[in-house]
Amino acid sequence: MKLVSKNKEDTRRTFVVEGEPYWFVNSLRRIMATEVPVLAIEDVEFRKNDSAAYDEIVALRLGLMPLKTDIKNLNLKSECNCKGAGCSMCEVKYHLKEKGPKTVYAKHIKSSDPKLMPVFEDMPIVKLGKGQELEFEAIAVLGKGNVHMKWSPGLFHYKYFPKINTGKSTCTEAIDRCPLGILELKAGKVVVNELKQLDCHLCEACSDACKDIKVELDENKHVIMMESWGQLTCKEIVHKASSIFEDKLNEFAEKIAKDKK
Ligand SMILES: [Zn+2]
Repeated sequence: MKLVSKNKEDTRRTFVVEGEPYWFVNSLRRIMATEVPVLAIEDVEFRKNDSAAYDEIVALRLGLMPLKTDIKNLNLKSECNCKGAGCSMCEVKYHLKEKGPKTVYAKHIKSSDPKLMPVFEDMPIVKLGKGQELEFEAIAVLGKGNVHMKWSPGLFHYKYFPKINTGKSTCTEAIDRCPLGILELKAGKVVVNELKQLDCHLCEACSDACKDIKVELDENKHVIMMESWGQLTCKEIVHKASSIFEDKLNEFAEKIAKDKK
């Protein structure tokens, strides 16, 4: 596994996995998207809502708002010592009380744990007219993306590693045809800009234009791109997904061993 790039906040990463089959990469992608738990608002109790938006609409918006998640110290409700009754280890409480005229933003929400605030504080919730009030209590819990996408930690996709062989081509038409500007001219020859090589989506416009340029995919290498919604860093997502993957494989192996007996 080789890291290609990541941003400062570690909410975007691109890395290359070599020597693993596509099913391994795809399983990892699916686990990252649907099995790594994050926090999201699940229950809202409205005390007052004079805004133009129905309670259900405001509750939906609150549910989709990414919340910073402490994956080490929070439990899934179903796996918590309280046996699902709800406690400080599996529930986080939020409340809000605002009066118009104003736009209510995510930053106006108060949390029982200041570390678990909304990721984007300028996310608008609702507009209040003069004298209109909004007041609610909300409870957020950990959940998984396979139950509802509000509990998914981000967007993940992968592709085969592109191999572009320009050989000794001098056919500059390929440079103009490539929609991603991956090819360039160096000392009279068409070459691949290595920084842009991974952008290639194998459209083959270059090889259609110039027969001496070949585009292939490397089936032994995959490029994985991940973008976190901000609840967790990419590092946390990959670590958690790897440990879930390992647990699943162990469980599978145990079941097969039991069946053989
Ligand atoms: Zn609990």
